[in-house]
Formats: sequence, structure tokens, C-alpha cells
Amino acid sequence: VEGNEGASEPRFSEWACQRSTPLKHQNDFLATQLEILQKYAEMKDENHDYSRALAFRRASCVVKSFPITVTNVNQLNGINHVGPHSKRVIGELLDGYCDEINRIVNEEWFEKMKMFTGVFGVGPSTAKKWIERGWTSIKDAQESTDISKDWRVQWGLAFHDDLMNPVKSNEAYRFTEIIQTEAEKILPGIVVQLTGGFRRGKHQGHDIDILFTHPNGEETGFLPKLLTRLEKLNMVLCGSHESSSFHEKVLSEDFKLTARGQLDHFEKWLGICKLPKDLVSGDDAQIPLSNGLEKCTEIKENVDSLDDYEPKAKKQRKCHGDNSPFTIATSERDWIARRVDFIMSPYSQYYYALVGWTGSKQFNRDLRLYSQKVLNRKLTSHGFYDFTTGKTLPANSETEVFENLNLQYQHPKNRNC
Ligand code: ATP
Ligand code: MN
Ligand code: MN
Repeated sequence: VEGNEGASEPRFSEWACQRSTPLKHQNDFLATQLEILQKYAEMKDENHDYSRALAFRRASCVVKSFPITVTNVNQLNGINHVGPHSKRVIGELLDGYCDEINRIVNEEWFEKMKMFTGVFGVGPSTAKKWIERGWTSIKDAQESTDISKDWRVQWGLAFHDDLMNPVKSNEAYRFTEIIQTEAEKILPGIVVQLTGGFRRGKHQGHDIDILFTHPNGEETGFLPKLLTRLEKLNMVLCGSHESSSFHEKVLSEDFKLTARGQLDHFEKWLGICKLPKDLVSGDDAQIPLSNGLEKCTEIKENVDSLDDYEPKAKKQRKCHGDNSPFTIATSERDWIARRVDFIMSPYSQYYYALVGWTGSKQFNRDLRLYSQKVLNRKLTSHGFYDFTTGKTLPANSETEVFENLNLQYQHPKNRNC
């Protein structure tokens, strides 16, 4: 029986946050197949207990970070998170045929679920309702007059063709540059950081995630001003602004009380922007992966904000979200619709927010579980809370977040689990 090769090899950690999980690895086929089972289990899940789905995800994460190409299932003997079910599947896949996966990928229901949940604002429960109505295509949903009034679904359907087309990294970088330029005019010294999958080195993604902070703590009112400016530049299609719901209790709340799951309490704007088409074309420019440190150390002089932006006093503010969506053929416009997330973090929470918004989602799950189980501390995007001292540990860099957790630093490009 082949084991975990080489006695001098470092032990293969049961924690994904202690392993390096690069984008490109040696077990792509197995990982992809296991994630089909994950997705299917997620969609079948009626009582929102994602344990089955997560078991497949953890097995997929193991093969993604496994030091060798898996050619025999016995190579995974004694490795945590590869349970009997995943093991059987891997064995069958390596033998060339897995009936369970074969049946799933040929199931019409699964195809429709993937298609409908691909619409902005549509989750598994809405997708199931659409299938029950007998809808078989996006067009069926688009043509229906009797549909959810949720602004996201309406706009998501209206611009589905654009939105299903993945955002490329060069678009994300160029868009971030535009935001950086405009943001700096509104609030000098603002830190603008592209996060999400692009910070992990992905070449495409479903949206553009941008995290903001200000070293002098002057972030209040910035996001509404930025949106007003982007509206003037005709770059906003729709979106909704959410005020911060952070309070100190968030840090120390019992683990079990956090029904919000991975959701955080930052002020944010989630919406759809119009990106000029010339931004979209061109080569897949490579910019070096930033660790987010460089901009924060270079604290700019405090200059008064520009005041030529309409002040928007209202705390909750929707941009266009209340209007009815419209459609214009792609060929008749010089822009493309793109999902954008803007998040504002207070400077004191910034590096925790950076880790949280860089992801991957699974990396965060693992980090937080590790923190709870091994350290009995609570990690969120807002901070790291110690139950025994009743204090949060500050972090002045992303490296310090890992140091506080007693973990080896993982570069964003190795957080792709
Ligand atoms: P993609 O390339 O498909 O966009 P992604 O990794 O960027 O993938 P997102 O859904 O954009 O995924 O989220 C980016 C990161 O931010 C994820 O790791 C996720 O954990 C975190 N995140 C997303 N939404 C929230 C939220 N509402 N509250 C807290 N964290 C969030
Ligand atoms: Mn993203
Ligand atoms: Mn996002």
C-alpha cells in the first residue's frame, strides 16, 4: 500500500488553511468531479444543512493541495476529510467510470438548477419554484410577467447574457484603476484594494470585489459619494447600499448565534455597473498580486474631501434599484453589465476584512473553524476575539492576521481551496 510518500515530507495537515492550495494543481479532474457532487448536494439540500455538500468540498480541497497526482485511491489512506463516499467515487473515477456522477450530469433538473441559480439574486429555492412552474430556459423567466419583484432578479434577468459571461482579470484591474482614480478625488488617502478571486490570481470570476479603507478613519459617507460620481460617469446600472450594522457584540457573539453565517456587517454596495467595452477588450494583462500592505503604509496627507458631490444623507440608499429594468441589445451599447461589490472597512478591522474578502469561501470556512476548534477564539472579517481575555487582537498587516492565528502565512494565490 502506498502511503503519504517520503518520511521527510511535512505532515499533510487536516486544516486547509495550513496547506497551500494553488489555482493550478495536479488533481484537477478529481477536484472538478467532487465539486459536481458538492454542488448537487447543495441544491438537493432541503433543510439547509450543508454537511453533505461540505464533505465533498473538503475532499476536493484535499486533492487540490495534495503533493502528488492521485493515481490510486489508496494514496489517500489515512488522510482526513476523504470519507468512504468520496473515496469510492475517486476509486471509480480512477478506474474510468463513476455511475453516480454520470447520472447527475445527465439529469435535466441539475442542468436547470445550475442555469437558474446563475441569475443574480436567484438561489436554490427560487430556482426550484421556477422549475415547478415548468420553466426550462432563462427566456421563460425573462418573458414571464408574474415574477419576483426583487430588483436583483429583475436586473439579473435583463442583463443575464452579459453577466453569465465571466469577468476577465484585465477588466477587473482596469475597473479598479478607474475606481482608484475617482476614489482618490473624493477622499485622498483612501485605500482601494481589488479582492475576491482576482486577488487569488484567478483569471476570471463572476464579479469584481473592491475593498476600501481609510487610515485616518474618514470613511463615513464615502461610498454614497463614490456612487454619485459613478452615476455621473454613467457607470451605474443598479445596486443597493447597505449601512454598516457593526457593533462590538458582533465580535464576541456565541458561535452558534451567528445565523448570518459568512455574512459580515460592513457598509457595502452590491450592484451592477456598466463597464466601457474598450475596457473589456485587450490582453489578459498581468499585474503582480498585491498583498494589500503597500498602500496602507503610504499614508497620504490629510486633505479636505472635494465637495462637488451631492450629499446623500439617507442611510439606506438605492441606486436605480427601484426603477424598472430595461433591455438594450449588446450590439447597441458601448458598455457591458458587470456585477460589482464595494465594501468599506474601518481601518482597525481592515486586515481581517482583507483576509475575509480575499477568500476563498472555503479557505475562510476552514480558518474560522480552525480558530474555533483549536484556539477557542472567534475569527470574522471584523476581528479576532479571545473569549478568555474578552479582547480582540489587532492586526496591522495580513501577515499579522496569520501570526495571531498561530498559522504559517499563506499567500493569496495559495488560498484557492
Ligand atoms: P468569483 O471569482 O466567482 O467572484 P470569489 O472568490 O471572488 O469568486 P465572491 O462571492 O465574490 O467569490 O466573494 C469573495 C469573498 O468574499 C469570498 O471569499 C467570500 O467568503 C467573501 N464574501 C462574499 N460575500 C460576503 C458577505 N456578504 N459577507 C462576508 N463575506 C463575503
Ligand atoms: Mn468575486
Ligand atoms: Mn463578490
